[in-house]
Amino acid sequence: MPLRGYKLAYPVVSADGTEAGFTGVSLGRSRAYGITADAECVGNAAHHCPATWCGCGFYCFHSLSDARALACDSEFQHSVLLEVEARGHYIRCEKGLRYSRQTVTAVRAGRCGCGWPAKAFADAGDGLVGWRRLLPLCAACAASRPVLSLEEFARLAGGVSVSRDEQAVAWAANSAVPASDADMVPLLSAEAALLHARLDQLQSQLDRLTGEN
Ligand SMILES: [Zn+2]
Ligand SMILES: [Zn+2]
Repeated sequence: MPLRGYKLAYPVVSADGTEAGFTGVSLGRSRAYGITADAECVGNAAHHCPATWCGCGFYCFHSLSDARALACDSEFQHSVLLEVEARGHYIRCEKGLRYSRQTVTAVRAGRCGCGWPAKAFADAGDGLVGWRRLLPLCAACAASRPVLSLEEFARLAGGVSVSRDEQAVAWAANSAVPASDADMVPLLSAEAALLHARLDQLQSQLDRLTGEN
């Protein structure tokens, strides 16, 4: 029986844009992995992960709330939350597991740096050989950037479920902003942009008219 766990990861996309995956947020930062992966020791590949005398292997928390708590640390702010099934050899720790094989079963996109739930991924501006790291962004912050939708990321990753984080959605819905729907703001700003474009057009017509007079 696989054991369920929760962990943080950074979403990544391959250099040619045809594959999506993840990297670890600390030790496993230098290696990208897909939906199902076997742990590899970063120090010494001659032993099986996880070894008790080595820090290698995949890590996960038993509880979603512990993973969420870690995501608040500024170092891990732009990570996503993975739900995983841990298999193979494992070492049980107080709050989680260190193990050899995992399958990612669900991804929560986390929150944008501005506070709204992330709805898309943009290029984070860094990465590792062959992989670009992605930044979770809300629709408003993503508006002026080329992005990968959550659906497209899910497809490139091999069909895992990728959704907005329900807690980030709830937090945004309870915010003091008059429009309670998290989707209203990007929608409104798009409409405002359209309105401005029309106003500009109107203005130039008016200018032309007054110029003629
Ligand atoms: Zn090791
Ligand atoms: Zn944002």
